[in-house]
Amino acid sequence: MNLIEHYIGGKIVTGSSSRKGKVFNPATGTQESEVLLASKSDLDLAVQKAKQSFESWSNTPPLQRARIIFKYKELIEKNSDLLTKLIVSEHGKVYEDAKGSLTRGLEVVEFACGIPQMLKGEFTENVGTNIDSWSIRQPLGVCAGITPFNFPAMVPMWMFPMAIACGNTFILKPSEKDPSCSLKLAELFSEAGLPDGVLNVVNGDKEVVDAILENKDIAAVSFVGSTPIAKYIYETAAKNEKRVQALGGAKNHCVVMPDCDLDQAVNGLMGAAYGSAGERCMAQSVAVAVGNVGDKLVEQLAKKVEALKVGPGMDKSSEMGPLVTKEHLEKVKGYVDLGVQEGAKLVVDGRDIKLQGYEEGYYIGGCLFDNVKKEMRIYKEEIFGPVLSVVRAKDFNEAINLINDHEFGNGTSIYTRDGDTGRTFANKIKVGMVGINIPIPVPVAFHSFGGWKRSLFGDQHMHGPEGVRFYTKLKTITSRWPSGIRMNPEFVMPTMK
Ligand code: NAD
Repeated sequence: MNLIEHYIGGKIVTGSSSRKGKVFNPATGTQESEVLLASKSDLDLAVQKAKQSFESWSNTPPLQRARIIFKYKELIEKNSDLLTKLIVSEHGKVYEDAKGSLTRGLEVVEFACGIPQMLKGEFTENVGTNIDSWSIRQPLGVCAGITPFNFPAMVPMWMFPMAIACGNTFILKPSEKDPSCSLKLAELFSEAGLPDGVLNVVNGDKEVVDAILENKDIAAVSFVGSTPIAKYIYETAAKNEKRVQALGGAKNHCVVMPDCDLDQAVNGLMGAAYGSAGERCMAQSVAVAVGNVGDKLVEQLAKKVEALKVGPGMDKSSEMGPLVTKEHLEKVKGYVDLGVQEGAKLVVDGRDIKLQGYEEGYYIGGCLFDNVKKEMRIYKEEIFGPVLSVVRAKDFNEAINLINDHEFGNGTSIYTRDGDTGRTFANKIKVGMVGINIPIPVPVAFHSFGGWKRSLFGDQHMHGPEGVRFYTKLKTITSRWPSGIRMNPEFVMPTMK
């Protein structure tokens, strides 16, 4: 059995805990690895190494840091097939999709190569007579990231390249369901020249997460995962005086207007609802059919959902892979059962799919519900599987209200040919990331990623300019050189005369 350990101080470390988690290949349902679940003392060791490295890494000129990140970019490109296969083997998503997610992570590394430009600061000459003032952004210290199973490369890469480029050192706690890719990413960074202890990976579960939240030497925590855990991380980290950003779950709506190009909307929805088997925080899990477009939309969707090719992620013909674990498969099937009980119309039922040779894999076919109502749990809760719910709305305003009243506000999109409708939608909608005729509006690396409402606790989004702000603190210096003129003590607030 393959053993997945920790990466601390530039080397693979076994640590002191004997607790282990099981890592499965979702395509076959077989356990292929065990992952060590770290104790508090394993975390303490990682923090000690990260703390020791901070002094010299934070003083390394940004240009030299950027050169290492450039080399890292090259190494990720060179190893992209290996990294992609690691994602597929533990997460289950199809190869090309896994590769795309790695590329989206790589784009953050590319953005981080420009860190000297982003840390330039601001300068004002003569804020007072012969007095200058400037603002700089300095790193925080040791930062930590806690990440979900659904993007084992991309989500960690939203965090550590930005934190490290800004001069921090970092401890990553990846999902215990698919941890191997994170370890490889850390080893490659060392190979690129990153000093030991700047990036550490500690595997584990709640025990090590709590140790992170309580550790006095960790200055900031970035989290991505489900909403209840995000709220817990936000509250606990803040109570322990840490800077924190905690991204949570989602229920993303796609509004289909009667004037839209329906083929485009249907194709967009297919990828957005069923890509990665719906295990994306930006998956479109609700289609809001406005006016009279509903019947045609459901008819066209149904044909395509029935034709979805479900299979192992390494099979080039698969469009959708398995779910991540058996428990998650049971949960998603349970939601489909619930939808039927709640009275929604199950137009396509993917619950009983069987794949020859992969009978033990965690597969479910695409499911499509029509006539879903806002009171139903399948509408209110995040299912995180290949289940699309169609809700009918009589007009545009009803569609907007539906979205604005929902507890989540991660992503949304609208299909329309009308510019005014698109613009009004973008203006009025209470959601962090908005697409107009774009099915999954994930911001690129040089913008920032984050939702609203209970999809994000904290002030700053991830990567892009917000990432630089999160991983640095502002310092403003006001200075006057002694001019030989003796000053008398001043007891009133200095102001410009
Ligand atoms: P999760 O919340 O179960 O786990 C996320 C991380 O938290 C993991 O590292 C896990 O080990 C840790 N964790 C789990 N339970 C914990 C507990 N009780 N105490 C402390 N730590 C705990 O999420 P998941 O199932 O891995 O990922 C899926 C979820 O992540 C979905 O809700 C999805 O919407 C969300 N997600 C959100 C975004 C976003 O950008 N908003 C992106 C990706 C995923």
